Amino acid sequence: MTLAPCLPASLTLAMPLSLSALEKYLLRRGLVLTDGYDAASRRVITRACDSQGRPALTYVHPAYDYHGLDRGALLAGALAAAGEALGMSPRAVAEAVAADFAAQPEGFACRRCAACCTGLRDAYQGRVSREEVDWWRLLGREDVLRFVSRQERPDYVLYAAWVNPKTGGHFKRCPWLRTEGGRKVCHIHEVRPLKCRSFPLSREQAERLHCPAFEEQAEMTPALPGVGR
Ligand code: SF4
Ligand code: SF4
Repeated sequence: MTLAPCLPASLTLAMPLSLSALEKYLLRRGLVLTDGYDAASRRVITRACDSQGRPALTYVHPAYDYHGLDRGALLAGALAAAGEALGMSPRAVAEAVAADFAAQPEGFACRRCAACCTGLRDAYQGRVSREEVDWWRLLGREDVLRFVSRQERPDYVLYAAWVNPKTGGHFKRCPWLRTEGGRKVCHIHEVRPLKCRSFPLSREQAERLHCPAFEEQAEMTPALPGVGR
């Protein structure tokens, strides 16, 4: 299957649709994601289950860029599977994922307090996908790319962020979190990675961080999962 039939061309300009973007959307829809090594395919696979633990779809882990795999075809397959699980067409899922990229969940107003940036090591010591790297390249964001390390493995490539180019190791705190006017702000807010856009990933995480947006949302609409920003 090719991606083109289900993807409006205009959306690709706003952001590259990708497995990681789909993943962010699945989290917001309340699906629970777990990663594991699949011996049969010799790949790291992500499994998305509903809140009752019923499997909804599986896909190759977005951060693993396996040699020789057509990532467009993988995405098209995952969109089709997600559409089936969510009762939507693949195109509708693609449109929802693209819209979700910039928007916050209904009722969730991020305070930009940076509690997740400082409290979650994954926020500044983790993986980004090849599509995000390509996107920063397209935007000419050499400043961002400077802190991304490309790691070659026999079967795949990984991209780590944020890595200090002087030491080759992860930063101990996010290098993009700066203090301006007495507030901590993300210096790359408009082009921050999807992992940053997805925090908090769960109710447990939001409660542990005392995420003010989540607490306010939970007060107003207790039934909402309250993930993502
Ligand atoms: S998601 Fe929550 S914890 Fe993170 S910056 Fe926004 S309000 Fe703060
Ligand atoms: S890149 Fe921005 S949003 Fe992500 S952890 Fe750093 S400061 Fe926070």
